[in-house]
Amino acid sequence: MGRLPFIAGNWKMNKTVEEALGLVRELKASISGVEEVEVAVAPPFTALYAVSQELKGSSIHLAAQNLFYEEKGAFTGEVSPLMLKEIGCQYVIIGHSERRQFFGETDETVNRRIKAALGQDLKPIFCIGETLKEREEEKTFSVIERQVEGGLRGIGEERVKSIVIAYEPVWAIGTGKTATPQQAEEVHRFIRKRLEMLYSREIAERIRIQYGGSVTPENIKGMMNQENIDGALVGGASLKPETFSKIVRFKEM
Ligand code: PEP
Repeated sequence: MGRLPFIAGNWKMNKTVEEALGLVRELKASISGVEEVEVAVAPPFTALYAVSQELKGSSIHLAAQNLFYEEKGAFTGEVSPLMLKEIGCQYVIIGHSERRQFFGETDETVNRRIKAALGQDLKPIFCIGETLKEREEEKTFSVIERQVEGGLRGIGEERVKSIVIAYEPVWAIGTGKTATPQQAEEVHRFIRKRLEMLYSREIAERIRIQYGGSVTPENIKGMMNQENIDGALVGGASLKPETFSKIVRFKEM
């Protein structure tokens, strides 16, 4: 199948510029020599430029945590795809559950953001996932289906290939409660099936699906052993170089 594992660190609203540079320097050293795992870090906006300079010549990719879907103009407080592209971002996290929960993101605005990112050749890390209430009400699959279809509406075969999907059950984010590998795999398999129905088998087999939600060095291996789990979007554990590099080095465990 040959999907390259992809581990990304979402730093959220953490790290000053100086702290970000310290973290990324240590990270470069601690993951040097790792092969066949793609790695990205997503610092806050204020540290992106400095980190992009520090990452020159390194294999670590740079991701932003959000963008706005307009090109430019009177949108106080927002950042455009072109601005992120200009400073060296390759990826952008879109539709993270914290943005859906606290900042009013909907499937429609997520879809607009994904299209805007693709328009600047930024690769979206498109986040989806059910809340605890939705899981308990056995709505997991219908929620995932709605989010996948809503987020990808109007995006054709050629462009969808550069999207990474991150399945992040909301109840597992920052809570220390991880989905079991079997629970995660069940949803990942469902997502891939939906992609096959929306696009084709070939496309579905190609798109990488990360798991996110309290990933640690202790549970990464069990996740990565699953057929449809192609990586991880890591929050808390990405803030320390020693834990993040252990996660990146999951093959050595
Ligand atoms: C995240 O923010 O995407 C995340 C998965 O956070 P954590 O690893 O801290 O649960």
